[in-house]
Amino acid sequence: MNDTLGRPLRNLRLSVTDRCNLRCEYCMPEDDYVWLPREDVLHFEETSALVDVFLSLGVDKIRLTGGEPLLRRDVAALVQMIASKPGLKDLALTTNGVLLADQIDALKAAGLGRITVSLDTLHADRFKALTRFDQLDAVHTGIAAAHRVFGQLKIDTVVIRGVNDDELIPLVEYGRSVNGEIRFIEYMDVGGASRWSPERVVSRREILDTLTQHYGVIAPIDESGSSAPAARYALKDGTTFGIIASTTDPFCRTCDRSRLTADGMWYLCLYATRGLDLRAPLRQHMPVDELKALIARGWGARDDRGAEDRLALGERRAFVPVQDLLKKDPHLEMHTRGG
Ligand code: SAM
Ligand code: SF4
Ligand code: SF4
Repeated sequence: MNDTLGRPLRNLRLSVTDRCNLRCEYCMPEDDYVWLPREDVLHFEETSALVDVFLSLGVDKIRLTGGEPLLRRDVAALVQMIASKPGLKDLALTTNGVLLADQIDALKAAGLGRITVSLDTLHADRFKALTRFDQLDAVHTGIAAAHRVFGQLKIDTVVIRGVNDDELIPLVEYGRSVNGEIRFIEYMDVGGASRWSPERVVSRREILDTLTQHYGVIAPIDESGSSAPAARYALKDGTTFGIIASTTDPFCRTCDRSRLTADGMWYLCLYATRGLDLRAPLRQHMPVDELKALIARGWGARDDRGAEDRLALGERRAFVPVQDLLKKDPHLEMHTRGG
């Protein structure tokens, strides 16, 4: 199953809810949001049925995300339904970590393979300013629990100039202490990031320069052939970290990712303005073969290269003007689409 640019359908991000218990400045900065109608949100059986179709078409990696996936009641039950499906090689989850300590054992027992926790700062006051909630301690407890139960984890950090760009080294050191590989993410102008401006982006080049000044020579890890978004690097002592240069050096040419929202809309690119509705055919009991053909046609016609198109624009502002985001279509938001 290749798209028009020869990219395979492999990697599916399943957003299980559009709700969140934080309000990160780069993702949900506004005061009010419109939420997906509850009756539209897929039941676990419906999600599981769609996953079967995707697996039959070549998907072999799934990441649960949101919104905050741990807010979805009994998400471990969904993990259990998906984990044992034939053809699935990798099942991961991205969380803000606030509720992780309480759920980690159930997630592991259900068959979750890997976990990523988002953490942008080690300062409690900054955490509160950045997320609007005083929950840094809960995130630390969640990370410690992930370390205990999974042995290792990944930690995603969005780097924003003037906000946390002075914490690159402390974050690498913190990652080392919890066996967590830090992945620095360039601030993206996705829907939801209504406060984005090019001046606030800290590029991969700058991140590498700062780390090199402190640690000395940094060696790139050769992972040619991989479609993973992060370029990985090793410090002299073997500590590894990644940088996701989605803004200054997009990786659309190898992108095998698509996203299913909690209400069953399928997006072929993070920047796509329209998705394919899979909920309606599913609820109208479309035969599996027809559903499969619908998804195959969708992927076969895919020509999206959203981040490369944004880069080519040169002059760049927030992707969706705030007046178009609010109270219009929640599907334009990053927290609905899943990161
Ligand atoms: N709530 C969970 C979390 O924060 O980990 C999962 C969903 S969140 C939308 C997934 C990822 O998207 C997070 O790691 C977050 O940092 C990232 N993200 C959100 N907005 C972003 C932006 N404007 N630029 C870069 N990454 C962003
Ligand atoms: Fe922050 Fe994730 Fe919630 Fe967005 S969905 S506000 S990145 S915790
Ligand atoms: Fe893939 Fe679209 Fe992101 Fe490019 S912008 S890497 S095509 S999701």
